Amino acid sequence: MGLRFERFGRWVYRDKRWPALRLAAKRRDGWACVQCGARGRLEVDHREPVRSAPERAFDLSNLQCLCPRCHTLKTRREVGTPELSPERQKWRDLVAPERNCHA
Ligand SMILES: [Zn+2]
Repeated sequence: MGLRFERFGRWVYRDKRWPALRLAAKRRDGWACVQCGARGRLEVDHREPVRSAPERAFDLSNLQCLCPRCHTLKTRREVGTPELSPERQKWRDLVAPERNCHA
């Protein structure tokens, strides 16, 4: 195929099929982030990144809804950049519900 891939698969988002597919993914995932359940603004993400699996760019089973926060974390992992603040995650682990009942 003579497809020329642009950075970050931007060509996908300009495809005529994308708006309907994005809507279908949001409906399927119940308009919530599949990672944390957040509602509100959602971004439809490719489970397998477009740049590594361009043939699955329009495959509904390769799509998932993520809130902007989870999407950013996933993208950071994919590009190999450490998450913004590991201290923050440690803090979250410390205040997890099961740790809150110590006297
Ligand atoms: Zn989320």
